[in-house]
Amino acid sequence: MIQRLTVPAGRGLAVALARDARLRVVNTPGTQVVDTWAFVMGDPHEYLSMEHCREVLQRIVFEPGDVLLSNRYRPMLEILADSSPGGHDTLIAACSREMYARAGGGQEHANCADNLAHALEGHGHLIPFTPAPWNLFMLAPVRDGRTIDYVRPTSRPGDAVELKVLADCLMVFSACPDDLYPTNGGDGKPRDVAIELLA
Ligand SMILES: [Zn+2]
Repeated sequence: MIQRLTVPAGRGLAVALARDARLRVVNTPGTQVVDTWAFVMGDPHEYLSMEHCREVLQRIVFEPGDVLLSNRYRPMLEILADSSPGGHDTLIAACSREMYARAGGGQEHANCADNLAHALEGHGHLIPFTPAPWNLFMLAPVRDGRTIDYVRPTSRPGDAVELKVLADCLMVFSACPDDLYPTNGGDGKPRDVAIELLA
C-alpha cells in the first residue's frame, strides 16, 4: 500500500488518480455507505455514469471483472475484487439538502450532494448537477422487477472493493451522512471509511 486516506464520517474526499492506479474502498465499520463518483481529469462533464454502465453491462449491479464507463462510453474503472456481499446500489440518487428537508431531517442536514460539490470546488470545478453516484455497500434490491426495498447493509467490518483506474480521473467519495434510512449504518450513525492507494 502506498497511502491510506480517511473519508471522515459524513464528509467527502476527492482523490486524483492516474490511469493504471489501483485502490481499495474499505468499509472500515462494515455498515457505512460510500457514494462514489469519478470524473475525467480536467472535464467534470464526463463522468462515471450508472445509466451507461447498466445499459452496456445489462445488469443493475456491478461485479468483479466489470469495466465501468463514462457518459461518453470511455472505460473509467475496472472492478478487480470485492470482499463484500456485493449488490452495490446503482439506482438511488445521492442524498441532498432537499432530500433531508423533505424527509423531516431539517433544512441544513449534511449530505452527499454538497460533499461532492465541495470536493469538486476544491479542484476548481463547478457543476450545476449531481451525477448519479455508485452507492458502494448500499443495498436497495428490486423485488418482483418493480419494487425497491431499502435494507440494512450486510457488509462486514473491513470489507473492500478493489478498483483499477482506466482513465486519469478525479474520484470523489462521500461517507454518507444519512441517519434517517436503514440503508446507511442501520443504527443512524455515519462512520469513517478508508481509501487505500495500492502500489
Ligand atoms: Zn448520502
